[in-house]
Order: sequence, then structure tokens, then C-alpha cells
Amino acid sequence: MTGKKIKFFSSIHFKIALVFTLTLVVTLELIGAVFIRQLERSSLASFRQQITLPAYVNDALVQQLEGESGGSKINSDIHTVLTAVNNSSITDIEVIDAKGIIRGVSDINNQSVVGQKTTDANLRAALSNSKYSKNPIEKKGNKRYQVIVKPLVTSTDGNSTVVGVVKVTANLEAVYDSLQQISTLYFSATLLAIALGIVMSLIISRALTKPISEISERTTRIARGDYSGEIIIRSRDEIGELGKNVNLLAERIEETTNSTEFERRRLDMVLGHMTDGVIATDRRGMINIINSSALNFLGIESLNEGDQRSIIQVLKIEEEYSLRELLEDTGEITLDFSTQERPLILKAYVNLLQRSSGFISGLVVVLHDVTEQERINEERRQFVSNVSHELRTPLTSVKSYIDALQDGALEDQTVAHSFLTVAQNETTRMIHMINDLLELSRMDQGRMKLNMEFVNVGELFNYILNRFDMIISSDDKPEKTYSIVRDITTAPVWAELDTSKFTQVIDNIMNNAIKYSPDGSEIVVSMHENEHHVILSITDQGLGIPKKDLTHVFDRFFRVDKARSRAQGGSGLGLAISKEIIEQFHGRIWAESVEGKGSTFYIALPFEPDFEAEDWDEGAWDDEA
Ligand code: ADP
Repeated sequence: MTGKKIKFFSSIHFKIALVFTLTLVVTLELIGAVFIRQLERSSLASFRQQITLPAYVNDALVQQLEGESGGSKINSDIHTVLTAVNNSSITDIEVIDAKGIIRGVSDINNQSVVGQKTTDANLRAALSNSKYSKNPIEKKGNKRYQVIVKPLVTSTDGNSTVVGVVKVTANLEAVYDSLQQISTLYFSATLLAIALGIVMSLIISRALTKPISEISERTTRIARGDYSGEIIIRSRDEIGELGKNVNLLAERIEETTNSTEFERRRLDMVLGHMTDGVIATDRRGMINIINSSALNFLGIESLNEGDQRSIIQVLKIEEEYSLRELLEDTGEITLDFSTQERPLILKAYVNLLQRSSGFISGLVVVLHDVTEQERINEERRQFVSNVSHELRTPLTSVKSYIDALQDGALEDQTVAHSFLTVAQNETTRMIHMINDLLELSRMDQGRMKLNMEFVNVGELFNYILNRFDMIISSDDKPEKTYSIVRDITTAPVWAELDTSKFTQVIDNIMNNAIKYSPDGSEIVVSMHENEHHVILSITDQGLGIPKKDLTHVFDRFFRVDKARSRAQGGSGLGLAISKEIIEQFHGRIWAESVEGKGSTFYIALPFEPDFEAEDWDEGAWDDEA
């Protein structure tokens, strides 16, 4: 898949050049062979033409031989005829008579053979009218000679008679030399042509293969994911078409890759922004997708690519489930991932990842944080158990008093009276508690009716505190005495609240301050404002609240000391109701305390800085209070 460099000898570039060159060589060789052969033939033919004796010489020879009687006169006449032949190409002319006797030789140096019988079989065959070769090539030493054998014939009355044979011999070396020269020239030209052919074929095949190399390079780059650069189309042939298609292909792949990439990023975004954890696995249960919420829930830093982690292992359910069980029995699993720092209960919803063919390609597990839900459920359970418990104690005591009365205590007037008082107190307490519970339930359901109005908080606060002062100064003194020290701003501060509910809250905190303080102690109340809030505080000198319980005192049924609180008639719901009310006013309530020294309860309420005093109806709360 990578762009491995192709060796020159394996390349198409080389192969095309090789085929081209071989074709050229074979063609030139064939043409050369035929041409040389043809040239040789035609050269020899024209040479033969050139050395053929003119007809009158033949005729003269026939005349001499016809009338011959074997005298030497004829021989000298023949010699005269032969020497008259003026042809420089001819080496020798030899004439034999019908008996095969050599009668004349043109070569002066060879006159001794005249009169001798010829040894040449071919000549004798020509004489006897049997098969002979007309133009044989003879070799003497290393020289070649063209021979023309011509029977000398007379014809009388239509009968022809061979009277002799003339043999012309001519040296062929000049012809062969020129043939040799031509072939040498041809050979050099061929070599040059081949050399040029190789160069040209290399150039042409380069031109052919270059676009292919470009296409190959481009496809390699595409495979690497680099879609840049375009193949330049230089020709309109098949390769040009291929280049065009590759360009088109690259465009399509880029588009597809981009859209896949976009889809992937979108999926990542969706998964990344989900508060639920999502894990997807392959068939073997190995995780291939996990979002940040899931990583967070499971306390995993990150899953690098190639990190093979099994879902079973990551969810820490190896002991309860095998992968097979998980695949077969999809549904919900509750997982406890609580640590010392934080509680964490997860619901894992396991689903199969199925293709349309039904093939199971993995699992998708959605992790949902149900800690809060579980906490609420737990609180609810706790609440029901608390209510039952709270009611059972007074009911049991009422029942036991009634039983005692029935068993005879009724007879004793004083005992009966005190028993009935206890029963009455307990019942009153239960009614109080049930009323408190009903009020809380109304708040929970959002059914609490509030009469919201703008109130001068300082005045209302003073008004409520005045009532507490009056309780001690009245003739009917309470069991416990106390004094209230006020530090309240005189400037009017307006806040929107429901006066009766506000009064209920202050009453509750004041009652607690008195309840949980020793007799005759001081209660310091203050009211100040900061930029946005008016802050009220009530500080007692009581037994205080342990640090760990400071936030819990606002929980339903919470009591620091259950027995004592209950003995003092507390239901443990007062502060819980107060908190709900203050939150309805968009305020905040909290407590600070030093154990054994006392506690401070704070209320912060948002105030209205621009409120006009005329809008306020002064005696508004008198009737309600
Ligand atoms: P209760 O009816 O029991 O007083 P509250 O909801 O009013 O119920 O108070 C819850 C608990 O908070 C009390 O039982 C008590 O233990 C503690 N608490 C409230 N106010 C004070 C205080 N001023 N000093 C000490 N403890 C207090």
C-alpha cells in the first residue's frame, strides 16, 4: 500500500523500451537480411549481364568451330576473337569444341592448356546436352569467380547441334567488396537506428509511464489520507481518463471521509456532553467507545487507543457476570462506585448492538447516576420510619396510661387526673407533629399558600420580639426567664415576605433559644444589612450544637439529643419547616455554634432598596399575630 520504489528493470518503463527495442532489432535484422540477399542477387545478375559475351562473339566462335578440322589456324582465329573481347571485368574466356578439347583461352599466361581435353565436368555436361549449371560460382584460393557457361549451337533445318561451349570466368571480389561495404554501412545504420530507437523508446515509454507513476503516487497519498494536489491531465487517452477518474475518486473519498469525520465528531460531541456515561464494546466485550462521563464515573483517567479493557472488568462485575450472561440477559444492573470522598450509585442499562441482519456486534452500556435518587429514596424510607417511630412513642405512652386507668388507677382521683394530663399532653404533641408534617407535605407539594407583601423587616422583627418580652413581664411567668438584647437598625429595610410564616420562623428560633438555654440567660438579637441582604441573627448562651450536627439541625426529625428534645416537647420539625419557609422567601438560614457556649441562628433575606414607604399598610400584621 505504501509507495514502494519500483526497480528500473521491473518497471513498465523498462519493459516498454525493451519490447520496442527488440521489435526494432528484429525488424531491422529481417529487413537487412532480405535487403542484403536481394542486393546480392541483383548485383550478381547485373554482373552476369555485364560479363555476358556479345552475340557476335558467340556467332564468330560458332563459325570457327563449325568449319573446323582441328587445325591450329582455328585456334589462333579463336584466340583473335577472344582477345578482341574488350571487357575488363572478365578474367578469362575459355572455348572448348564438341569433343571437349580446349580450343582457346583469353588468358595469355595460360595458353598451354589449349589443345588439352577439359577436366571441367560442368562443361562436358553442357556439351552432352545434359543438366549443367549455367552460372556457377567457383572458388579459387580465397577468391570467388562468376562463371557463365554458354553452349555454342548451330541450327540447320531446325536441328540444333552443340559445336562447343564457351566459359566466361570473372572475378567476383569487386562485387562482393561493394556488397560488403553496403552491408557494413547498413549494419552501422542499423546500430545507430537501434541506439536512437532505445533512446526514443525510453523517452516515449517515460512519457507513457510518467502519468501512471503520478497516478500511483496520488493513490498512495490518498491511502495515507492526503487528498491535496490533483493529477494534471495531459492526454485524452485511456491514461488521461484514468487520471480523471482518480481525481474524481479522491474528491469522493475526501467528501466521504469528511462526512464520516463530521459524523464521528458529532457523535463525540454528543457523547462528550452527555451527563450519562456511555460505553460501547465489540463482540468480545472490549471497550471501543467510552465518553468522559463514563470515565469519570468509573474513575478511569483515559482509555488510550489500543488499550484493551473489558467491560466486565471496568464495571467490576467479574464475580457476578460473565460476558455471555451479560449478552443473554441484558437489562439493568445497579453498581456501587462510592468512594470515601463521594457516594456514587450507578444504574447500568445494558443493550445489545445489533446489525439489521441480527448479528450481534457488541454491547452498549448507558450509566446513569442514581445517587441522588437513591438518597431521596433512602430519605423517604428514613422519613416513614421516623414518623412511625415518633408517633409510636406517644401512642404507646397514652395506651399504657389508659391501660393503667382501666386497671384501677381511675379510682384514685389524683393519679387519674395526672395520667389524663399526660395523655392529653401526648395527644396535643402528636397533633402538633401531625400539623407540622402536613405543613411540610404541603410545602413539598408546592401547595403552601403564601401572602407575599413588602414588609419593613426591622419593625416586624421588633414586633415579634416584643411579644417574647411581654411573656416574661406578664403576671403568668413562664418556667424559664430570659432577657433579650437588641441590636437592630432603625433604618427601614423592605423585603417581600409572608408575615405570618416569618413570624413562625422567628418564634421557632426564639423558642429553641429559650428551650436549649439555662434559666435567666441572655438572647442577643441583631439585624444588619449588606449590599443585597438583610441579615438577622439570634444568639443564645445555651448548650450549643456540635459542629458535625450544625447542618443537620435543619433536617426533618433531627435532634441533637433526642431524649431531651422530646422531653421538651420538640418534634424535630421546627427548623426543617423554617428552612423551607426562608427558602420560599429566596433567603438562606444557617447556624453557628460553640458547644457549651451557645448558638447563633442567621437568616439572610434579599431586600428591596427602592421600595416606597407609602405603599406599606402599617397595621397589616396586627390581626394575624
Ligand atoms: P425541636 O422541636 O426538637 O426543637 P427543631 O427542628 O426546632 O426541633 O430543632 C432541631 C434540633 O436542633 C433540636 O432538637 C436541638 O437539638 C437543636 N437545636 C435547635 N436550636 C438549638 C439551640 N438554640 N441550641 C441548641 N440546640 C438547638
